[in-house]
Amino acid sequence: MNETPVLKGHSAIVTGASSGIGAGVARAMAAAGASVVVNYHSDADGANGLVRRIVGDGGTAIALGADVSDEGEVRKLFADAVSAFGRVDVVVANSGVQQDAAIGDMSLDDWRKVIDVNLTGQFLCMREAVRQFRSQPNGARPARSMGAIVAMSSVHELIPWAGHVNYAAAKGGVRMLTRSLAQEVASERIRVNAVAPGAIRTPINTEAWDTDEALAKLLRLIPYGRIGEPEDVARAAVWLASDAADYVTGTTLFVDGGMSLYPGFRDNG
Ligand code: BGC
Repeated sequence: MNETPVLKGHSAIVTGASSGIGAGVARAMAAAGASVVVNYHSDADGANGLVRRIVGDGGTAIALGADVSDEGEVRKLFADAVSAFGRVDVVVANSGVQQDAAIGDMSLDDWRKVIDVNLTGQFLCMREAVRQFRSQPNGARPARSMGAIVAMSSVHELIPWAGHVNYAAAKGGVRMLTRSLAQEVASERIRVNAVAPGAIRTPINTEAWDTDEALAKLLRLIPYGRIGEPEDVARAAVWLASDAADYVTGTTLFVDGGMSLYPGFRDNG
């Protein structure tokens, strides 16, 4: 990607960045000039491979392991990021999992796992981000804001999703976490926004696009007529993190090819 360096001098943490959307966001942030912490949970090889790729492209990145649902590990992630790059300007709370089941079969573990990573994990990273933004020297800021948080939400912060009540509940929570925190810290010039991707071609939803039949069924839900790519989401995240979005806070930017536009009503209703 050949972006203008709108994040020059910034230090960014992207959680869950060893694959999928997180990897795309980490690459785009680095291409935009940021020094990037590529956080991963279990896929150290994926994260290290991405770091090599970013560095090979002339960027700056390191890989740091941490489970975002663990308070102590999140603290250490931020401390290690500060040791490496001196400060933190952008946090992309991206880590997310699916553990799908119909309600009668959904175990408490399925519920907890998704809420822990997708909602509590975002809370822990956002709290640490705000603490860090407040504590770092004012003068050295590379941006107009005191720091920017980008939450990775989903169209399912809005669209109900049968068979995925844990996931949709977590993303609905991310919507109000984002908006409430944005309201709380706006006077400190900390910006908090979310990106809501639709169907993006990543490992989390392979079965939704990897056969012709599955893809055709999926495309009926996407007015724009194509599946999304991680780069589509990454460009939105870079924009929200940058000074180009300096007056934007508390909003969710849908990057979904129109999936949230009730496509079932195109020729009904
Ligand atoms: C989910 C994907 C799904 C997409 C659209 C995302 O948040 O993780 O599995 O394809 O929403 O439904």
